[in-house]
Amino acid sequence: MAMICKVDQLKNIDGFVGELRFELTKAEAADLCRLELAEGNLAFSGRAEHRNRVIHITGVIELILARPCDRCGEPVSIPLRCDFAEDFTNVPEKADEGAMSEEEEVHFFSGDEIDLLPYVEQAIYLALPMKTLCRPDCKGLCPQCGTNLNENECSCDQSPIDPRLAVLADLLNKG
Ligand SMILES: [Zn+2]
Ligand SMILES: [Zn+2]
Repeated sequence: MAMICKVDQLKNIDGFVGELRFELTKAEAADLCRLELAEGNLAFSGRAEHRNRVIHITGVIELILARPCDRCGEPVSIPLRCDFAEDFTNVPEKADEGAMSEEEEVHFFSGDEIDLLPYVEQAIYLALPMKTLCRPDCKGLCPQCGTNLNENECSCDQSPIDPRLAVLADLLNKG
């Protein structure tokens, strides 16, 4: 099941409010939007409200995302709960109005359905922490042999390189 909001009724009746509830399984999320869930489902619950030819969709997205650790690459579970708020209109002039002001963009739609998934996906990416670490003191991988230093020690020389030599090494690597 994708995240299709049916607006055939909603778009014609000012003041109409509809409840929205979507759930994507792990397989569906991977398939439809390349979000990898660690466990459970991706859940969206919210409402759609028609006010003066604009459909305001608000809600909450909950999921547990799986992301690789920035240092060692091991999967990390990241529980996320993010707010969702987007406006849609099928009146082209209204959509243009929105694009003019930087505050709130009003997305244009036509037909009887709005696919919320791309917007939900965007909201999730915006809510992601800047850094993903499996633990605060993750030691990462050995830059020389690739050993996961959280699990094993390796015999590579880990002493810091002289900064002047580091610049040289950098240049050589680029060349
Ligand atoms: Zn790590
Ligand atoms: Zn090593």
